[in-house]
Amino acid sequence: MGDATQEATETMQEPCPAADCDSNRAYYEMMPKPGGSCEVRLFTCVECGHRWRES
Ligand SMILES: [Zn+2]
Repeated sequence: MGDATQEATETMQEPCPAADCDSNRAYYEMMPKPGGSCEVRLFTCVECGHRWRES
């Protein structure tokens, strides 16, 4: 137990893939792959809210 008040939303420089958006900043969070040891980053655009996953 602890007082971990951790916000999971940090931003990083990542161009939004949406065609009608020219943002280059996105929130990201780490998503562990089920059954696997590696993690992928899940991005959410700060401007249009588009979500995509790091490949
Ligand atoms: Zn966007």
